Amino acid sequence: MDNDVQGFETLAIHAGQEPDPTTGAVVPPIYQVSTYKQDGIGGLRGGYEYSRSANPTRTALEVCLAEIEAGARGLAFASGLAAEDALLRTVCRPGDHVIIPDDAYGGTYRLFAKVAEPWGVSFDPAPLGDVAAVRAAVRPDTKVIWVETPTNPLLAISDIAALAGVAHEAGALLVVDNTFASPYLQRPLTLGADVVVHSTTKYVGGHSDVVGGALVVADAGLGERLAFHQNAMGAVPGPFDCWLTLRGIRTLGVRMDRHCANAERVAEMLTRHPAVRSVLYPGLPDHPGHEVAAKQMKAFGGMVSFRMQSEEAAVRVCERTKLFTLGESLGGVESLIEHPGRMTHASAAGSPLEVPADLVRLSVGIEDVEDLLRDLELALS
Ligand SMILES: *Cc1c(COP(=O)(O)O)cnc(C)c1O
Repeated sequence: MDNDVQGFETLAIHAGQEPDPTTGAVVPPIYQVSTYKQDGIGGLRGGYEYSRSANPTRTALEVCLAEIEAGARGLAFASGLAAEDALLRTVCRPGDHVIIPDDAYGGTYRLFAKVAEPWGVSFDPAPLGDVAAVRAAVRPDTKVIWVETPTNPLLAISDIAALAGVAHEAGALLVVDNTFASPYLQRPLTLGADVVVHSTTKYVGGHSDVVGGALVVADAGLGERLAFHQNAMGAVPGPFDCWLTLRGIRTLGVRMDRHCANAERVAEMLTRHPAVRSVLYPGLPDHPGHEVAAKQMKAFGGMVSFRMQSEEAAVRVCERTKLFTLGESLGGVESLIEHPGRMTHASAAGSPLEVPADLVRLSVGIEDVEDLLRDLELALS
């Protein structure tokens, strides 16, 4: 894009998405193709030879992702975990050490515990909201500090700029899983992070109709190494999945505004409800990460978690809502409710990352907020 066009929503709608030069189509076509005609051996038109290596619909998505995260290079993957795996195997080797959040997403924890550790990469969970604790957890062989902020499902906040300082002092990379905030609310690369990870399945795609992942990096050299692994390991998304994800990105800004506004109302109602023990939402002034969140995020996001008096009470709420659909995942236009202990985070049971049994997690959608409040009130009654 031209240097004078920088606004987020403008980039989301135009970056990588110039009208098609042959037909004028204003939306990048779905290039549902595996291979490309060569004009003589090695004579590629536009650099495409085989769609695992590159595909024009994926290129459109990757260019857009890089621009909206203010990075040098974006790379799309078949899922968020495929992106995490490609990153791990590019920047770590057996013998290296990684610090992860002590309440990381369950699938990220499983990747470290069951795949990376047997491969030879060790890891330690640490409370990443506590900069001194992270500094204390750093070892000479630490290669990566892996941050989620806000975390899934406890909505803990960590200070990206401060942790970038800790990582770089130690010669390590700061990786930020930006799935919960989305680049509309928070751009970690502008705060000093080296790599941004996304499950584009969530807010970026935004319609619960596609699974995908992405990496965006500040350094073009690291981008090249990741692109090599993306092709060599092959966990790429298909053209239609890329097209759906790009379609989601165009409305990310307006969707997030509504997600945040609705979540604020829901959090406020829950704090006043007698059946609710505590509410975890970084927008609440008494949330321990509120000040840092206010500093590094544009608004506080669409995810709200809360604790009930018991596991039974938590399960009961999850099974009683009607508009909030009981289901895993998050970030779609429709509201979802779940019990992390038995659902999304069941893989962390018995580990240091086990989540409280009385916890309920909401992905607050963009429906009419009065309907959402009524649904929760009835389920809590
Ligand atoms: C869902 C999720 C992932 C994993 O992404 P998939 O697309 O499901 O593979 C990673 N991190 C966070 C924070 C998530 O919510």
